[in-house]
Amino acid sequence: MGKIYQLTDELSNKIAAGEVVERPASVVKELVENSLDANSRQIRVDVEEGGLTLIRILDDGDGIDGDDLETAFFRHATSKIRNDHDLFRIATLGFRGEALPSIASVSRLTLKTCNGNHEGHEIKLEGGRITSKGSSPSRKGTEIIVTDLFYNTPARLKYLKTVHTELGHISDVVNRMALAHPEVAFHLTHNGKTLLKTMGNGDMLRVISAIYGSHVAKNMLEVKGETLDFTVKGYVAKPEVTRSNRSYMSTIINGRFIRNYPLMRAIQDGYHTLLPIGKFPIVVLHIEMDPILIDVNVHPSKLEVRLSKEQALQELVTRSLKEVFQRTRFIPEVRYDS
Ligand code: ADP
Ligand code: MG
Repeated sequence: MGKIYQLTDELSNKIAAGEVVERPASVVKELVENSLDANSRQIRVDVEEGGLTLIRILDDGDGIDGDDLETAFFRHATSKIRNDHDLFRIATLGFRGEALPSIASVSRLTLKTCNGNHEGHEIKLEGGRITSKGSSPSRKGTEIIVTDLFYNTPARLKYLKTVHTELGHISDVVNRMALAHPEVAFHLTHNGKTLLKTMGNGDMLRVISAIYGSHVAKNMLEVKGETLDFTVKGYVAKPEVTRSNRSYMSTIINGRFIRNYPLMRAIQDGYHTLLPIGKFPIVVLHIEMDPILIDVNVHPSKLEVRLSKEQALQELVTRSLKEVFQRTRFIPEVRYDS
């Protein structure tokens, strides 16, 4: 008699949730990414008690077809890729088909959705099991309500920090999404109080102002750079407006907020000797490249990516920043014509 068993879907989803759903902020990240992938122009995030009791995401995106509603909660079920070819050219934020089944397996979840053509649908799950299905109002878009996160994974529940800390992580996630997508209107509330509201009119400086304040926004310089492989554009703060940690350097590649230390280094190199010791700049850089040059399939959270031609990108970033500081006379231009 053999000893090896195939785990049930329920158990394997819970195991995946261990990686994908670390805390309430991970739920917000995954669900907002889904809203963005569905071409939403307005995304509302309401959380209560740091997301511990309730997380609600409302979007005006494409919605989910009634026939796909149950499938969306299967592990590795996605509408975003089909084959190897697609896997190396990821143009969406999601593609692993793990978020919905993982989140549903560790919470009580209600999803209401309508694709605008037919009546809306509603599905409810508890611990990953469907408890009811029905119709819902025909407003185009999707609403997902997650309550009692980790109610059936006691160890995870215990590991959660205070409401204040969890809310901080959620705020960070929504801020990053807003910086990455100035064309989308974000509205974040906590216990009914608005924490962030962006216009969604594509104006990056307005988003920077909403998040970092108008003093920072007024002291930003526009940066642009381009090679055959990459375009870089965004805003960098004047060297006198600095912060004491690296978390104010936002690098966004193809609409995805990523953490990449070599790129942060390249940004700091662009400031040359202008930064006071121990101080870090405030920067928001949007980088666009052919998806073939970037491997996002490194970690389930996709915060880290692998870049081909990484060095060329670093050089472009450093050069683009130096040019801005020369143009604005923070760095004197070196003349070789004498
Ligand atoms: P992935 O995003 O990797 O495809 P998910 O588990 O996050 O996997 O979502 C599964 C599928 O459900 C998505 O591929 C998409 O088709 C659909 N979906 C999820 N959220 C939304 C949404 N807010 N609007 C429209 N479709 C959605
Ligand atoms: Mg997803």
